Amino acid sequence: MTAREENDSATGEAGGIRAPDRLYEGYVFDLDGTIYLGDDLLPGAKRLVEKLRELGRRVVFLSNNPTKDPEMYAEKLTRLGLPTPEDEIVNTVVTMKEWLLQNHPDATVFPISEEPLKKALREAGIKISEDPEEIDIVIASYDRTFEYRKLQIAFDAIWFHQRARLVTTNPDRYCPFPGGRGEPDAAAIVGAIEGCTGAKCEVNVGKPDPIMLKTIMDMVGLDAAECVMTGDRLYTEIRMALDAGMPGAVVLTGETTAEMLRDEPEENKPEYVLDRIDRLVPQRMWDEFGWTEDGVQ
Ligand SMILES: [Mg+2]
Repeated sequence: MTAREENDSATGEAGGIRAPDRLYEGYVFDLDGTIYLGDDLLPGAKRLVEKLRELGRRVVFLSNNPTKDPEMYAEKLTRLGLPTPEDEIVNTVVTMKEWLLQNHPDATVFPISEEPLKKALREAGIKISEDPEEIDIVIASYDRTFEYRKLQIAFDAIWFHQRARLVTTNPDRYCPFPGGRGEPDAAAIVGAIEGCTGAKCEVNVGKPDPIMLKTIMDMVGLDAAECVMTGDRLYTEIRMALDAGMPGAVVLTGETTAEMLRDEPEENKPEYVLDRIDRLVPQRMWDEFGWTEDGVQ
């Protein structure tokens, strides 16, 4: 019997709740299904995050969506009752900007994107151009203003001038909406460019690529092993944590259920399994703080 199985049988629960018995230096959180569900904070999210900040731990919230500024997420969390500064939000606008600054600070880029990414690149001093003869990197992103003209520029820069590389903000095929609908996401733009040029997208700075976490670790100056990635999806946040060498915690308040987890191969399972997000604080500290499970935000 492995240590994990022993732990499972000790708790006597399907999927086995396994909570950390220590605090970490940094906490990286997915948002939907982890911190909030739609327009409501999940139980324990507010007191957990406030306690971690009070204890001087670094808190970062993640999103793959490059159509929003970090401040839009900060405003949403603040509106839901968890006041949050903009610098605790990292979406693929931030990771793309940071990845370029760390790896290609002198490159001329052509972002096929909406305004938030363009604005962040401009503010970071990264050169943007629509001239195929000087573009080094084409950034395919979630762009609801995509048009043939942009595809032609990418095609000329990559295929005709044989100079530009193709990268993307996030690998998502579509962005899910309530009621089962959705909207074509960055993979649609990557597909169009790959289709006409024969080039392959070389880099993705969103979940589940570990580049996203590595970029964040460089930004905050912490080691992956000193942080925990918490999310509700095994194939995005947890996959990324496993590949980045960061302890992962799946919280069963969103997509993943205890049954799904039980059927999953061991290599896809994270270190921790939580029935609620505030289990990230060890039980002995719950006792110390006088926390109970009822009626908390
Ligand atoms: Mg989620």
